[in-house]
Amino acid sequence: MENLKKKIKQEGIALSDSVLKVDTFLNHQVDPQLMKEIGEVFANRFANLGVTKVVTLESSGIAPAVFTALTLNVPLIFARKKKSLTLNEDLLTADVYSYTKQESNTISISSKFLSEQDHVLLIDDFLANGQAAEGLLEVVTKAGATTAGIGILIEKAFQDGGKRLREKGYRVESLAMISELEAGKVTFTEEEIMYESI
Ligand code: 5GP
Repeated sequence: MENLKKKIKQEGIALSDSVLKVDTFLNHQVDPQLMKEIGEVFANRFANLGVTKVVTLESSGIAPAVFTALTLNVPLIFARKKKSLTLNEDLLTADVYSYTKQESNTISISSKFLSEQDHVLLIDDFLANGQAAEGLLEVVTKAGATTAGIGILIEKAFQDGGKRLREKGYRVESLAMISELEAGKVTFTEEEIMYESI
């Protein structure tokens, strides 16, 4: 997706050879126009699959996920990373190791929002080693729901999360694929990769 790649080129900061900072439009300040466009692209790519809910992980997945859900006309659920006094129902949980924070969180979704009737589209900001996506998949599976696909804004193709998820048969669509990061420089793979589920 050209507008996203352009934004990354203009505003992204490679903090190291493995971490990209995009806090001017995604991870802190949010560009709503770009998020709206992204939501429409995901909704289009996962159209006609019978998606009943969009699921993401707080907090940076929420902005693109809300526009995806709006366009698909389905609810959005964001998994919580921290326990909350108001989140006291039956919880579906999974343990997720955070790549950027280097700590483990138990993520949770209330069982009242996901059931066997649901066919879920997962959305997240980054795909690195796949821990966040795999945690969300675990929660979806615990609910008895099924997964239509996984939409990612920025996939770091030099880390193996995308490969593992695709090998398991998930349809993963990434709008910007980064093949290499080095301080001050971002290199994209030639093509956005679109895999059909097996
Ligand atoms: P994974 O679980 O696939 O290893 O990492 C994905 C999660 O870690 C995403 O939800 C995202 O929040 C965070 N993440 C991973 N790599 C990066 C990165 O290079 N930059 C930023 N800003 N977040 C990242």
